[in-house]
Amino acid sequence: MAVSDLGKEYVFALAGNPNSGKTTLFNELTGSHYEVGNWAGVTVERKEGICKYVYHNHITHFDTHEHETEHKHDEAHNHIRIVDLPGIYSLSPNSAEEVITRDYILREKPDLILNIVDATNLERNLYLTTQLAEMDTPMVIALNMMDALEENGFSIDVEKLQKKLGIRIMPISASKGRGVQDLITECLNIASKKQLPLCPLTYGAKIENAVNEIQSEEGLNRLCSIKLIEHDIRLKSDIKSEKTTAVLEAVSKIIADIETYIAEKRYKFIKSITKECVSVIGENKQATRTRKIDSIVTHPILAIPVFIIIMFLIFQITFGAFGSMLSDFVDNLFNVQFAALVEKGLDAVGAGAFAKGLVIDGVIAGVGGVITFFPQIMLLFLFLSFLEDSGYMARTAFIMDKLFMKLGLSGKSFVPMIMGFGCSVPAIMSVRTLENERDRKLTLLLVPFMSCGAKMPVYAVFTAALFPEHAGIVTFSLYLIGIFLAIVSGLIFSRTVLKGDTPPFVLELPPYRMPTLKSTFHHMWEKAKDFAIRAGTVLLAASVIIWLLQNLDLRLHMVTDSRYSIIGMIGQLIAPLFKPCGFGNWQAAVSLISGFAAKEAVVSTMTILYGAGNSAGLVSSLSEVFTPLSAYAFLVFVLLYVPCVAAVSALSAELNSKKLTLFSICYQIGIAWIMSMLVFQIGSLFISL
Ligand code: GDP
Ligand code: MG
Repeated sequence: MAVSDLGKEYVFALAGNPNSGKTTLFNELTGSHYEVGNWAGVTVERKEGICKYVYHNHITHFDTHEHETEHKHDEAHNHIRIVDLPGIYSLSPNSAEEVITRDYILREKPDLILNIVDATNLERNLYLTTQLAEMDTPMVIALNMMDALEENGFSIDVEKLQKKLGIRIMPISASKGRGVQDLITECLNIASKKQLPLCPLTYGAKIENAVNEIQSEEGLNRLCSIKLIEHDIRLKSDIKSEKTTAVLEAVSKIIADIETYIAEKRYKFIKSITKECVSVIGENKQATRTRKIDSIVTHPILAIPVFIIIMFLIFQITFGAFGSMLSDFVDNLFNVQFAALVEKGLDAVGAGAFAKGLVIDGVIAGVGGVITFFPQIMLLFLFLSFLEDSGYMARTAFIMDKLFMKLGLSGKSFVPMIMGFGCSVPAIMSVRTLENERDRKLTLLLVPFMSCGAKMPVYAVFTAALFPEHAGIVTFSLYLIGIFLAIVSGLIFSRTVLKGDTPPFVLELPPYRMPTLKSTFHHMWEKAKDFAIRAGTVLLAASVIIWLLQNLDLRLHMVTDSRYSIIGMIGQLIAPLFKPCGFGNWQAAVSLISGFAAKEAVVSTMTILYGAGNSAGLVSSLSEVFTPLSAYAFLVFVLLYVPCVAAVSALSAELNSKKLTLFSICYQIGIAWIMSMLVFQIGSLFISL
């Protein structure tokens, strides 16, 4: 590395096929925590991060962490900014992702293209590589998944491959963090020397002559010149010289279908070098395993039952005996032990009744009512992350495609919906990755039906109170009602407000992989983190406000009976609205309002309003106030009514239409009221029979 370059900021553009491990490498390099998903195009947004690896500028060898052969300490270290480009298979401008990548490299001129290549899928990945190598930009190949090579039954002669391709290749394993330091050191080396790749791929004398002429006439790089010859419309409008037009005409007279001709040349080149550098050493266990699992999991008849069984098992574990045991443990720890400790502390400093009430019955009870369910939220997210990382989630899109076609959607919309089970906000944001405008709008209107993680504490506390024996199945049924209504709504919307065509389905199914514990826990935490933050912010604030409103009247005097408090009056005003649904008590009405701030707040509010103190107390209060039927009607309402403020604002931003947002809000509330009323009224008929 040239000494004068120390301290300069380098920009490395990370490019590669979908599922090549781009996100994994990006996270490893930047230490920033992003979602790692398996469906095509999840990284349509542009992501950037500062590479953390550069700060220790020493060379560590692949596989042997003990043998650090060379130490080079640069005081003025280089900054490297990593830009994550969308996952693509080629650079023809067929999709938004391909255009983003090409334009980025052409316009922003990164110092280096870091091309990540999946070693277990070499031929397909190298197609993009041959195009990137023609962009006259320094380039390094990160040959990823080296750890999985043997399992895939072959080995690669990296030295030879590097020579044949004319591009520096660094073997890595992104998920294991192996070889990454060496990779960055080498990237810095090549970027600082501005060393261009020497891809020896040529297309025959006639095309080469034409390419050379266009390059000198138009000042384009090799790839763009070739694209012009391939009749790239986006580039054609920028032609400056008439000579270029003449050259293009001449070439198209010689070769009729130039695009196919060039593509074939690329494939031939790739085939010839992989033949020399890749040797088969055994059976491809990964492919065999994937085929075996898929024969059941994507089976035309078995697929959907298998999916339902998997989901059902997850709910049984999360909400059944195991999940409740964890919750009880936390409940005792926080709401009993911790609360007692705080009370002692407050007594010791001589705190008055007001302060004690606010802290113990307000903050601790309110926040604690939700923290109790944290283990269950984590458990659900752990399973969802596992399904995502293993490759199963991508299959669900495939499985659901047929069903979704009937809704006028593609199977791809299923992924945001499944994410909606975690939290609606990222789910709503991920809808961006769908190609078609109508698809996006329709999916956005349906995501709120997916029961988000924040509603779990509500289900958990109600099932514990009124359906202790059947918690798993009752909760599962709520999720099903949400899905069912999403289907019905989809059918209605796609035939009325949002008519249109369904785009064809293209989604790559990645091979099944055993996710690493580290990445699964990482993703679980990514999802659960927001809940932890919210417990400390929104819920804390809501608990304080609710407690104050419950203990003060309009003249701000303390009340002894909260019925006469501010909140009691508001509650009594709106409670009659819910009478037909079976839960016309003012506490329930108030908790639904605070649920708009955050769904967990329904539980916090109830804990405070019923003066329950902790979850166990709330469970016994609820079992007195509610009947199983009115409780179920209440849960149906909570399931379906308008999502929290954060989700509504995300929805409004993505829908980009006040009218549709308002429609969505009214629709959700309307459906919630109607369904909950129907549950209670029809249920009452049967019960009185
Ligand atoms: P992207 O679509 O290119 O962003 O790919 P991801 O980063 O989401 O990775 C796709 C899958 O490959 C994930 O399940 C990763 O855990 C897995 N993966 C990434 N790098 C490696 C690796 O070096 N070895 C193995 N065995 N798996 C990896
Ligand atoms: Mg990715």
